[in-house]
Amino acid sequence: MLKVNNLSASYGYVKALKEVSIKADQGQIVSIIGANGAGKTSLLRCISGLVKPTSGTIEFLGEQIPKKPNDIVKKGIIHVPEGRKTFSGLSIQDNLLVGGYLFSAKENEEELKKNYELFPILKQRKEQYAGTLSGGEQQMLAIARGLMSHPKLMLLDEPSLGLAPLIVNQVYELIAQIRDRGITVLLVEQNAKKALGLCDKAYVLENGEIILEGTGKELLCSESVKKAYLGG
Ligand code: ATP
Repeated sequence: MLKVNNLSASYGYVKALKEVSIKADQGQIVSIIGANGAGKTSLLRCISGLVKPTSGTIEFLGEQIPKKPNDIVKKGIIHVPEGRKTFSGLSIQDNLLVGGYLFSAKENEEELKKNYELFPILKQRKEQYAGTLSGGEQQMLAIARGLMSHPKLMLLDEPSLGLAPLIVNQVYELIAQIRDRGITVLLVEQNAKKALGLCDKAYVLENGEIILEGTGKELLCSESVKKAYLGG
């Protein structure tokens, strides 16, 4: 479904990605783990059209992805950014409707209904400002906002960042449910243990390069992954 081939990206003289190649099949959760500054966010930003690669290709459903982020969303790729980036001065419902901006009022109404079933807390508080939500609830809102665009592929950047372990578990249960709906998830995480425990396949990114790949189970057992990312 997604094929990234020899992708490189730079910010001036900083080489963020060096010849990165990854693949994701439909309905998989594919995880990218790596330390701060490894290039994880840059990879997602290239796929969603927010950063222009210097070389390499990105194929989605057998075609090159379009150039404009808007057209990439129309193709079915949504980016749920690190730090949630919800609109704190808008109500929860309006945040969700922003996510559905490409769709008709009727389609949004149906999608809102589905989202409120999946996220009862958002339904209860739909008229409140998003800024009043806790970190975990804002993460739920960011994911729900992403679902409003009917994605086939969701790019999820650090969904567990700053959340208490219990809330992280809830977010991960939700990611599994999203996969069960047939949506492919590309999951970027520093929380390697959690991501590797859930994903079908994973890549380790270090200084802009893929240095290791395997199933989640394989990487959980890898001595070098244990040492570098799982606290020994
Ligand atoms: P983190 O886990 O800390 O978010 P990351 O793995 O997502 O890190 P990136 O944010 O992709 O890594 O950063 C990769 C490299 O590119 C880093 O050296 C970073 O400083 C640099 N970088 C990222 N964004 C920019 C930018 N807008 N301008 C200049 N350099 C940048």
